[in-house]
Amino acid sequence: MKNRMLPYGYIMTNGDIVVDEIEAEIVNNIFQAYIDGEFLSQIAEELKVQRVPFFEGNYEWNKNKIYRMIQDTRYTGAKNYPIIVDKELFERANRTKEERGFQVDKSSPTIEWIKRNFYCYKCGKKLIRYKYSESVRWACKNGCAFYIKDADLLNGIRGVFEDIRREPSLLQNDHRADNYRITPDIARQTAEINRAINGGNMSFEIGKKLVLSCATVKFATCEENRFEAYTDYILDIVKNTDEKEYLSPRFLSEIVTQIAVKNGTHIVVSLINGSVVTKLIGGGNNANTK
Ligand SMILES: [Zn+2]
Repeated sequence: MKNRMLPYGYIMTNGDIVVDEIEAEIVNNIFQAYIDGEFLSQIAEELKVQRVPFFEGNYEWNKNKIYRMIQDTRYTGAKNYPIIVDKELFERANRTKEERGFQVDKSSPTIEWIKRNFYCYKCGKKLIRYKYSESVRWACKNGCAFYIKDADLLNGIRGVFEDIRREPSLLQNDHRADNYRITPDIARQTAEINRAINGGNMSFEIGKKLVLSCATVKFATCEENRFEAYTDYILDIVKNTDEKEYLSPRFLSEIVTQIAVKNGTHIVVSLINGSVVTKLIGGGNNANTK
């Protein structure tokens, strides 16, 4: 089996690189099919089925070859190659590539980070990743399963930080109330205060005493005032980090405690200050928090 020395679409004639018209048409069809939503592997399969030669007697098309072609700037005239694919078609195909997230394979550090920190919202169990070609299944031990494209997942996570950057109040969301757990003691004292207030005959001194006592109990149950301490920290990091870095494991590790999937439709990002920010998977603006 012979190998090509030149990219598919070109031939050498009298020492010059020229366009092979038949192959050039196939190149354009490949770009168009990819933009139209066909998978790399489907395109390769069709070319094989149609017995389109890759090179003399070689019909071995595969998705890696197609993938390299989609990115090959020589088709748009780089390195003095004659143009086969016009720039707009080329750019559309490469945008499609980024949207589909083909570049995110199992070796992607971001996906590896997500695998370690990804949970089923309903069960609290770790989600296990199963990748079939471009569709990815995440399943928890209790049997919940979600199909989420990597590109959608990554866009969703990035979107959470873009939302926070634009709207820092997403981190506020009365999380003060989350700083303490309601212990029986707090519940009792709160009820006592309410009764006293509703009774209408509480003296200022008694009221103050009750409220302070309750606050002391609440304060004692705080592990630490995480919200106060970490909210500014998160905002600083989000604002001072380039948006392109929002998916880097270093950034995520700094401020995210875990990410969960809710109903297969939303990702729920928990942050180190105890805030929770939710985002619809696959587009849309931030729904809300919590
Ligand atoms: Zn589950």
